[in-house]
Amino acid sequence: MMNFAYSRASDVADAVRLKAAEPAAKFIAGGTNLVDLMKDGVEQPPRLIDISRLPLRSVEQTPQGGVRIGALVPNSDLAYHPLIESRYPILASAILAGASQQLRNMASTGGNVLQRTRCLYFYDTATPCNKREPGSGCSALDGLNRSHAILGASDACIATHPSDMCVALAALDAKVHVLGPSGDRTIAMTDFHRLPGTTPERDTNIAPDEIIVAIEIPATGFSGHYSYLKIRDRMSYAFALVSIAAALELDGDSIREVRLALGGVAHKPWRDASAEATLRGQRANEATFAKIADLYLKDARGYAHNSFKIDLARRGIVRTLTQAAQATPQSQSNKQII
Ligand SMILES: Cc1cc2nc3c(=O)[nH]c(=O)nc-3n(C[C@H](O)[C@H](O)[C@H](O)COP(=O)(O)OP(=O)(O)OC[C@H]3O[C@@H](n4cnc5c(N)ncnc54)[C@H](O)[C@@H]3O)c2cc1C
Ligand code: SF4
Repeated sequence: MMNFAYSRASDVADAVRLKAAEPAAKFIAGGTNLVDLMKDGVEQPPRLIDISRLPLRSVEQTPQGGVRIGALVPNSDLAYHPLIESRYPILASAILAGASQQLRNMASTGGNVLQRTRCLYFYDTATPCNKREPGSGCSALDGLNRSHAILGASDACIATHPSDMCVALAALDAKVHVLGPSGDRTIAMTDFHRLPGTTPERDTNIAPDEIIVAIEIPATGFSGHYSYLKIRDRMSYAFALVSIAAALELDGDSIREVRLALGGVAHKPWRDASAEATLRGQRANEATFAKIADLYLKDARGYAHNSFKIDLARRGIVRTLTQAAQATPQSQSNKQII
């Protein structure tokens, strides 16, 4: 039995104050990841700071034409929000590809961004894991690594970030608004999650005393040409082996703008701006898409059980960009799957 104290934050400033007073405390929003981690003994916070009733549940247009999403907007509400469905369908698709309806009802926007890896050794406190216990070793390197990273990994950790939503947010150039004792700041979604390097215990660049208050997405939503493809072992209730968010703006069959983000392959949603740049002005066809797939995966490295992901990602990129170009996005049939 693990004892912990519980406080409910009365407003956002109170949440920041409570955290500053006890840095080892954890915010709890929907609790769908944190409670599991506590049950497994992976997280042992001395105090939970309940932020679930803070007024961070609105989805609003910004003066710049984008959208600001409160950190406590539930994943379901966000996916079915008219602004998101109509202007950012790639984000709606990615959210609906994740978890189950019940989980999406509980899961918050901020909690989704900060959910932790699903590496099974991270959850198994009987095994070495550098992310859970720095310096203890990485059991996945020579263990069961089917779901692990093929890009950006290190000898210290080969875990992946499990979120679907974040892959679409990375493609959309979203920004994360955070608030701490010294004020507010904004972090680009592409810089929010870290590569493991020698410090895999740090998943993100948010400071321990900061809270996520909102996510902002710019005006360009790519609603005409987009697709989110999630490849997994089951059609529902499974994390991505590989996922791809692809968005295009076309002039006829020529590519004016492209965004490509991969999930399930690295410690963070994977974007490659220089590879994207090579596509601008090119024809939107299979040969072009195969070239960008090669560029994205040129440094990919597989381990004993996950080398298949490299070819899976390559074919997935071509397929998803083709769906985007043809305005035939991946089916959202999982809307019906609970
Ligand atoms: C069985 C199962 C299947 C799943 N499948 C998928 C899937 O396929 N795809 C997918 O993307 N996700 C999946 N998930 C993960 C799910 O999306 C996350 O658990 C959820 O989004 C977390 O949100 P939450 O509000 O419940 O976070 P919590 O569990 O409350 O918190 C998670 C972490 O975020 C911190 N936190 C929460 N809000 C804030 C904030 N505003 N500021 C600072 N810190 C904060 C907490 O302290 C904690 O460390 C699955 C989960 C389960 C249990
Ligand atoms: S891959 Fe990372 S999370 Fe998994 S066992 Fe290795 S160090 Fe831990």
